[in-house]
Amino acid sequence: MRYATAFLLSIAAFAEIKITWRFEGGNLGRVERVDAAHYRAHLAGESDQDRRNRQANWYYFQVEAPANQSLVIDLVSLPGEYNYKPNRGAVTADTPPVISFDNKTWNHVEAFEYDAAEPRMTLRITPKTGRFWIAHVPPYTSVHLAALRKFAGSQIVETTAGYSVEKRRIPLWTIGNGPKTVWLFFRQHSWETGSSWVGEGLVRHLISAEGVPLRQAITWKIFPLPDPDGVSRGGVRFNKFGYDLNRNWDVNGVEKMPEITAQRAAIKAWLASGHTIDLLFSLHNTETAEYLEGPPANGGEGKYTALAERFFALLETQTSFAPTRKLFFSDSSTTAGMNGRMNVIQGLYKDFGIPGFLMEQRVSAQPKYGRKPLIADRLRFGRELADTIAATLRK
Ligand SMILES: [Zn+2]
Repeated sequence: MRYATAFLLSIAAFAEIKITWRFEGGNLGRVERVDAAHYRAHLAGESDQDRRNRQANWYYFQVEAPANQSLVIDLVSLPGEYNYKPNRGAVTADTPPVISFDNKTWNHVEAFEYDAAEPRMTLRITPKTGRFWIAHVPPYTSVHLAALRKFAGSQIVETTAGYSVEKRRIPLWTIGNGPKTVWLFFRQHSWETGSSWVGEGLVRHLISAEGVPLRQAITWKIFPLPDPDGVSRGGVRFNKFGYDLNRNWDVNGVEKMPEITAQRAAIKAWLASGHTIDLLFSLHNTETAEYLEGPPANGGEGKYTALAERFFALLETQTSFAPTRKLFFSDSSTTAGMNGRMNVIQGLYKDFGIPGFLMEQRVSAQPKYGRKPLIADRLRFGRELADTIAATLRK
């Protein structure tokens, strides 16, 4: 009996833990083994074309480990820079990872410690099964998008706006045929999967029976996947060459930024064919802030004040949007005096005078949900968003 016990113990001690991320959207820098049940996982992070603005808040990896044995994983290499200002990183005690045992259902890791000094996020996990997945927020890949596309069938008219640096297709969806036009951008930044889940909720609502009046009143133009390369490799916010997909809307660089060039051309063609764009909206995620940024310079002389205030008031009172600051109107650029620093609403306002809105939704705990948002919350907001945009334009 003694021998049998020793034998079992030695098997447990030698059970290899395997951490991998070679699948769509998967990403991690490297992994160090501290001991058999303790690993340090370095986030890869990404920097821009000038090796600035490092952001390390996308990770998505699979762990194979013995079930029912405790395991410690430290997430490190967190510090970065945002709009040229250094920070301790986007991964903090406010933003612990999500974990899944089936790669579909995601919940937040409960047992973690955040050490702001290093900084380091330490996860203590005792898996119920021999395989699980960890990510910053619930992943959304091209597989999810293809399933949605298939589900929608002929309700979505799909065209190709252009191709990414790595020659992946940038789809443009049209739903409905109403006299007004709403143009939507989801997931300009590849780490912001929450934006994609909202987009999915919105599309499912539009194509449902309840969506009939929305489709009759409005033509919905949607960019559901503006950065297919980033989504594929598990990127953060830059394209293959390091260009931020929500800056650089003031420069034309077909070779280095085919994604932005393709999107701008689609909008230009729509306007050139005699159509209008009554409202443009781009949805993003941040760690802890939630807000709505209105049309740049308010369209001059308060041209869009009424529209923006109506939209904000409806969002605040009728939906789960929980702003951390009041409505404000965008500046003409994110970084005064620098080229390549206009975001999508700033650039398209400069070129075409389109009333654009940019929303950020947090991934940390949100008062209207009473917890950190999960997939169901994002899908719900998608429905609410479609209804709110329609109500805003009804007047
Ligand atoms: Zn973003």
